[in-house]
Amino acid sequence: MVKTYTFDKSNALMERARKVVPGGIYGHQNPIMLTRGAFPSFFARGEGSHIWDVDGNEYIDYMCSYGPIVLGHRHPKVEEAVRRQADLGNCFNAPGPLWVDLAEYLVSITPCADWTVFAKNGSDVCTWATEVARHATGRKKIAMCSGAYHGTHAWCTPAPAGVTSEDRANIVYFHFNQLESLRHTVAEHQGEIAGVILSPFRHDAGHDSELPVEGFLAGVRELCDRNGIVLILDDVRAGFRLHLGGSGEFFGIRPDLTTYCKAIANGYPLSACLGRESLRQAAQEVFFTGSYFTSAVPMAAALACLKELKAANGIERMRMLGEKLRDGMLAQARGAGFEVTYSGPPAIPYMTFKDDGGRYDRMKVFAGECSLKGVYLAPRHNWFISAAHTEEDIKQTLAVTEQAFAAVRAQFA
Ligand code: PMP
Repeated sequence: MVKTYTFDKSNALMERARKVVPGGIYGHQNPIMLTRGAFPSFFARGEGSHIWDVDGNEYIDYMCSYGPIVLGHRHPKVEEAVRRQADLGNCFNAPGPLWVDLAEYLVSITPCADWTVFAKNGSDVCTWATEVARHATGRKKIAMCSGAYHGTHAWCTPAPAGVTSEDRANIVYFHFNQLESLRHTVAEHQGEIAGVILSPFRHDAGHDSELPVEGFLAGVRELCDRNGIVLILDDVRAGFRLHLGGSGEFFGIRPDLTTYCKAIANGYPLSACLGRESLRQAAQEVFFTGSYFTSAVPMAAALACLKELKAANGIERMRMLGEKLRDGMLAQARGAGFEVTYSGPPAIPYMTFKDDGGRYDRMKVFAGECSLKGVYLAPRHNWFISAAHTEEDIKQTLAVTEQAFAAVRAQFA
């Protein structure tokens, strides 16, 4: 019997939430981004590649908490490490030994790094990295790609509410994959740019992903070197899904600073910025702290997560499964007579329908149909594969996406 998905408990929780939390749920987890009536707002649990919402509906999870879940929900090795540390305590007056163990491990797997700092969110480390670049160079300006996402802080948040023009006064822009535009920006602000920050591939929400074109990242590196600019790689989204040594290694670029968050600790709150020797002094002098920066439990999770990712060859597995999903969905799209763009690395894919317009009408029907049949993927954000996905998951998913393409065809004849 096919189960009908209903969301009564989710909806009731949302009604209560709206009274006591502005908007009910904020940020990218706000269901406003999703297909109306087809998605839950609240989840109850997860196991491996599957999640259950508060109404008991089960899904194969292709958002992985928007990235953090890289080994699957409740991975036994991560949970064991978490339990062991939690039994000892989490938050002390100073860090525990894991602060050093994890820092040593991260430095050992990252060819371009000699040190690391820890924080909680991607935004924390991206902002701090820009401050280190400024302090090290004695310059003010940061160059970022227009449309890129580096977090919620005033210098880069995509929503203008609450931001002043002064907050952005020292931010200058260039276009990803257009070396000439960076050359132009650097020339226009000659001697003023402290740092260039960019992600390893273009993954702006609402835009097809773009892998770096031949020579782009090498050209960025060379421009930075020639002009004394610190190169910051924002690997918050892609980190540990493409290469254990950082996505810079995957694409053949060695940044000066690399920021991580999401997949570093399989869902436990931790971020990191790794850097090279020449920036150690500046890193030491830029004040950085937070109430939970030294918490030990997420560090236990991170060490277990990264070691397991390596031991289980998780990155290769995500690529292989991601390719199967991509090939299957592209064949289905062709069969249904759709032109779709399936972009990004296989482990972090993004799909759009040709001529779907700015409102994502086809993609919303597609994602909604998938959700109502037990496959959770967002219509306007890249998806994430985890190492816990199985060939059986992909098979079941493709059975669902086949029906989802048919549903889009029925509505957009
Ligand atoms: N940079 C990138 C590339 C991201 O994808 C994100 C989060 N989506 C951030 C920075 C900010 O991370 P956080 O939400 O943990 O502050």
